[in-house]
Amino acid sequence: MTAELICVGTELLLGDIVNTNAAYLARECAKLGLSVYYQSVVGDNRRRLSSAIRTARKRSDIILLCGGLGPTQDDLTKETAAKVLKRQLVEDAGTKEHIRKFMEQYLRWHPEEKMTENNWKQALVPEGALILENENGTAPGLILEEEESTLILLPGPPGEMIPLFEKKVYPYLREMQPEMICSRTIKICGMGESQAETKISDLIKKQKNPTIATYAKTGEVHIRITAKAKEEEEAEELLQPVAAELEKRFGTYIYTEDEHVTLETAVVELLKERGMTLTTVESCTGGALSARIIDVPGASQVLKQGFVTYSNKAKRNLVQVKKSTLKEYGAVSEKCAKEMAKGGCLVTGADAAVSVTGFAGPEGGEEAPVGTVFIGCCLRGKTAVKEYHFNGNRSSVREQAVANALVLLRECILKS
Ligand code: ATP
Repeated sequence: MTAELICVGTELLLGDIVNTNAAYLARECAKLGLSVYYQSVVGDNRRRLSSAIRTARKRSDIILLCGGLGPTQDDLTKETAAKVLKRQLVEDAGTKEHIRKFMEQYLRWHPEEKMTENNWKQALVPEGALILENENGTAPGLILEEEESTLILLPGPPGEMIPLFEKKVYPYLREMQPEMICSRTIKICGMGESQAETKISDLIKKQKNPTIATYAKTGEVHIRITAKAKEEEEAEELLQPVAAELEKRFGTYIYTEDEHVTLETAVVELLKERGMTLTTVESCTGGALSARIIDVPGASQVLKQGFVTYSNKAKRNLVQVKKSTLKEYGAVSEKCAKEMAKGGCLVTGADAAVSVTGFAGPEGGEEAPVGTVFIGCCLRGKTAVKEYHFNGNRSSVREQAVANALVLLRECILKS
């Protein structure tokens, strides 16, 4: 079955608000096994909204509309949908009662406000609609079943739309849809997307159910396996052998198979498992690496200290980088990264230290091109340094440097 999303609101078109509802609804449709081939955004305009609904009806089984169900003049989704489907708007007694109770409650806490005539507009519904009571607002959700397609109208505020979808729309669509989708994400690091895809190209070529897809992220690659089946257990059974094959092929490149585990969480867990402490010594990343580590609850068990050694003086005074190194090789050099990492361990007594030094741009790059970054990792006396050349603007170079510092640290721990 196919589904299509139409989000209504001029503020969405202008970019004043981000269309998070579309992202949510698309994810939920994927879970339900509904194929979403089209999404659109239409302003608060009757003619263009009618045209979008007419087009959608020709090509999709389910049309999810969100926004424009409010009481004001520019809220016209319900009126327009009713007109396209040639249905009258009729007052619904249950909805009227819900509005009355909801507003009474609301006015108790907001005595300065008044109930206005346009509130009752929300009690008008297209004839024959299935009404989904909205516990968090006054505009009900509406399901309009037709021969060729079903229209589902939802309010725009995510705080109303999401609970309504979860409680009423998801079960309704689940019933209509014989199959569901289950997926698993295997996260790898230390290998680029093209190399990762080549490693499993035979599996991707012959994929049917489950399907396999790779997604490049900063410093890591996610491989998503997705299976369609009638029941969840059946989908899990389809996923299992493919996941086992990927585990065999990627081995220690896999840092987690848990959707919620991030690279920094995996690194902190690894340090904890090994009973190791850590120090960061950062130049161009300016503390972003230690901030990512500190994002992980319980990071205090592993992170001893984070140095931001942005100037040459700080590199010398805080982590004992030699004056001669800075003079001869410069701050963005393999030698400097090595001394920063070694100095980090020495000064704090941590088991491991990661250093980052580079040109994030946009200015500079006389000694080496912008995007050149050296990352060092000193672990129990041994120091490894890698040279990187990142593309992108200043923040992107810094972000890539942080991710790769975590990857190098993980690699060194696993090797030690
Ligand atoms: P209301 O009764 O509040 O007017 P409504 O159903 O008419 O609800 P809109 O007026 O279209 O909805 O939008 C109300 C608010 O909901 C927007 O200002 C915005 O904050 C949020 N919203 C609407 N559509 C979206 C969307 N697609 N993604 C994220 N937020 C949205």
